[in-house]
Amino acid sequence: MKYRIGHGYDIHRLVPGRPLVLGGVRFDTDYGLDGHSDADCLTHALCDAILGAAALPDIGHFFPNTDPAFRNIDSQELLRRVVAEVTKLGFDLVNVDATVIAEKPKLAPRLAEMKAALARSTGLLADEIGLKATTNEGVGDLGRGLAIAAHAVALLGKR
Ligand code: MG
Repeated sequence: MKYRIGHGYDIHRLVPGRPLVLGGVRFDTDYGLDGHSDADCLTHALCDAILGAAALPDIGHFFPNTDPAFRNIDSQELLRRVVAEVTKLGFDLVNVDATVIAEKPKLAPRLAEMKAALARSTGLLADEIGLKATTNEGVGDLGRGLAIAAHAVALLGKR
């Protein structure tokens, strides 16, 4: 087996009156992430990590934010398509690991639910998905709650 690692990063601004979706899970808040799709920055970082491991271009290339077809699209659909894209090239997704940086809301109580949603979209087992949440300790724009960001890595194997 030949292994390939990939990295992804994404950030979206928090704005009032948008739904908040992270890792495919909807949060009950009166603010959400701004963007063309559902703006799920965790899922976007995972998509870019998987694409990066296959040395493919980023999700903006596959799903341009100028295309009305992707307006408010569920990012789990994008993740399913990304996994299909690398599978087509002969890769198997081995595992992923991600960290979400959010000052609010509290993510810890929903991490298991997020893992389950991401497992459904990727075909991974929940215990092949690492997921952590941290705050930015009040530092900078993330610390002031202006945005939520996510880092992710993914491992692909090819026979
Ligand atoms: Mg994004």
